[in-house]
Amino acid sequence: MSDRAVLSVDFELFSQTPAYRNAAGETTKTGVGLAGGEFLRETLAAHDATATCFVVSAVAEAFPDAVAALADTGFEIASHTHTHRHLSELSAADCREEITRSKAVLERVTDEPVSGFRAPSFEFGPNQFAALSDAGYRYDSSVVPSRAIPGWYGGEFGLHRPAPATVVDPAAPTGLAELPVSVMPGLRLPLTGTWIRFFGPRYTVLGMRLLARRGITPILYVHPWELVDLPAVEGVPKRVYYRTGVWMRRAVERILDQPFEFTTAGAVVADAVATDPAAETASGARESPEGR
Ligand SMILES: [Zn+2]
Repeated sequence: MSDRAVLSVDFELFSQTPAYRNAAGETTKTGVGLAGGEFLRETLAAHDATATCFVVSAVAEAFPDAVAALADTGFEIASHTHTHRHLSELSAADCREEITRSKAVLERVTDEPVSGFRAPSFEFGPNQFAALSDAGYRYDSSVVPSRAIPGWYGGEFGLHRPAPATVVDPAAPTGLAELPVSVMPGLRLPLTGTWIRFFGPRYTVLGMRLLARRGITPILYVHPWELVDLPAVEGVPKRVYYRTGVWMRRAVERILDQPFEFTTAGAVVADAVATDPAAETASGARESPEGR
């Protein structure tokens, strides 16, 4: 039996990324990134693979057919908030609204239950776990156990396997799980996102093998806008454009060619909860300051 892996998709449009929102210029093109969803549907089907899409529900409202098509393909639909604003910048009430509204919108559009959530840019909002539990989510996937990258993310967590959310925050409600995104052992940078475009798919594949050897299911993530040719917009940093489009589509195909069974985040969480509900509780998820 081959090892499992998860290719998760943070399904937001180019116009919803912080880099675009902070830029001086703008594009007249709408729906930049939707074609990336079409590529993923076709390519994953050709590889007999499935995926989890963490969808910004404003996209589902604006383009319901595109999101319903992802669900119809068999992808798990999870939430990536309603507007893709950074939850860390919102009040507890607004954070709760993003979490609750997105679930309702996505369930209406796809006619499927939504049980997973990922915060934009992996930035936790106030009382996020309580809001997720109250809204009926079963798992969160907003932890990235990366080294600290100044001005970006990381340095907060040392969790590498699915665990109860109480391992991340002792005040979290019971019954909620955390599924951390994977980082390269030792180097402690994510295996995908910007990093696959910087380091190449061989870096990602090496990390997947190292994790599988340790019994850890690699959790990867890509964005649909990385898979399309982006319009030039004044003020969007070069790193956002770097190797997007055809290069990144080939990189995704390289990953899918690996001898892994690509499944959903929800399936990995369900198995982890079933086999060991208290997994990793003793090892501690928060990093000691020395470990940063
Ligand atoms: Zn995002």
